[in-house]
Amino acid sequence: MGKKKLKIADNRPWYHQGLRFECQACGRCCGGEPGYIWATHEELARIAETVGMHVLDFCQMYVAEYEEGFSLREMDNGDCCMLQGGKCRVYGVRPMQCRTWPFWPSNLSSPRAWQEAKQRCPGMDRGRLWSLAEIERRKNMVLV
Ligand code: SF4
Ligand code: SF4
Repeated sequence: MGKKKLKIADNRPWYHQGLRFECQACGRCCGGEPGYIWATHEELARIAETVGMHVLDFCQMYVAEYEEGFSLREMDNGDCCMLQGGKCRVYGVRPMQCRTWPFWPSNLSSPRAWQEAKQRCPGMDRGRLWSLAEIERRKNMVLV
């Protein structure tokens, strides 16, 4: 009689072997379709300092307030107001939302969601391999 194999449930996420991502600095995720670029008070203060403005002046000019929080404004063409010449002028102090891309819950919800997001981001599935632990850390940092 053959041995019965015990079936063990595999609860690991589909990306348990890690995912590749390396930003190609194309600036696409910082422009295009309308969206929100959420930022905390602390992040806004650091960004204002980086561009050499008082935080209140900066917020008046570049920040919109919503029920959910503060978002960097977009220009008429959909670009984030911090995008300059295709590059983020505050890259070193960019908000958590920008830092954690593309490891957002929405992109990680299924391989298909990841593939869809990849249509807009040429850095996905390229370059460095991020481990499951690194991905989960970033996923859990997402504010939105
Ligand atoms: S779309 Fe992707 S590759 Fe392009 S700037 Fe954004 S993160 Fe980098
Ligand atoms: S803050 Fe910088 S990285 Fe974030 S959306 Fe704006 S330009 Fe892009």
